[in-house]
Amino acid sequence: MTAQPVTTQQSSTPAEVPATVRASLSPSRAADFKTCPLLYRFRSIDRLPERPSVEQARGTLVHAVLERLFDLPATGRTPTAAGDMVGPQWDRLVTEQPELAALFADGDSPAAAEFLRSAAGLLEGYFAVEDPRRLEPAERESLISAVVDEELLIRGYVDRLDVAPDGALRVVDYKTGGAPREAFEARALFQLKFYALVLWRTRGVVPRVLRLLYLKDAEVCDYAPDADELLRFERTVVALWRAIEQATAQQDFRPRPSRLCDWCSHQALCPTFGGTPPPFPTQAAPDPLRDARSRPTPPGTDE
Ligand code: SF4
Repeated sequence: MTAQPVTTQQSSTPAEVPATVRASLSPSRAADFKTCPLLYRFRSIDRLPERPSVEQARGTLVHAVLERLFDLPATGRTPTAAGDMVGPQWDRLVTEQPELAALFADGDSPAAAEFLRSAAGLLEGYFAVEDPRRLEPAERESLISAVVDEELLIRGYVDRLDVAPDGALRVVDYKTGGAPREAFEARALFQLKFYALVLWRTRGVVPRVLRLLYLKDAEVCDYAPDADELLRFERTVVALWRAIEQATAQQDFRPRPSRLCDWCSHQALCPTFGGTPPPFPTQAAPDPLRDARSRPTPPGTDE
């Protein structure tokens, strides 16, 4: 198994994709398939729209504030400054993503005000576990990617990357969800190992720490990967992609019910809940490289 570095970039401009690459995979879509193959199909092949939930919107907002907080001089990164950014950042997000406005479209201003207050509450959780005045992140919301097994592009956005003076890397991911943590912990660690694999393959350095910051609970979860583990993880990702390819060829994506069904937007089409999936889209066969040519799941949308 070989890997080629592609790039690490601080923008949403896709990197040039090597000619050998046949497909791309983000940690979110890979985790979808692991969680429930039918969910993967609905999102990645049928491309069914999903209305953003209030919880997802809050996550996007908090990520936006935490990204921009580090634009301020170190001494200015205070809880008050972060709180002051909540309203303007929400206005910006609604301008860029008008569908977010529909969350409070019925003129429910008390609900909108509570939404902004709850985002500010998550930021207080952030300040309870970190002092951003003592940090200078190397990268924020960075799009990183690498090619594994010569034909699979793996890519995703890292919330924050810290680089120590000795070159040690720390990958930081902000978690804003209110769902039971145990239901999401495995998915979150899968996502971080995915990023660790990309960084190892592009920079030749195994990140020293993968850090989950749970803002709601004001808790930190650190994990230290090693090269052997990442090598095994790489094999897992490639095997996962092979399984996705096989399921696509056979048009066979089965539901796998779990506690995560409570957060699924597609219950009405799921046989587990008495629904019927739409016909498999054979007319416009899914382009496995479409994700590689466009922006993958935007930052802040993963709980
Ligand atoms: S409702 Fe559950 S089983 Fe059905 S597609 Fe969604 S996650 Fe899968």
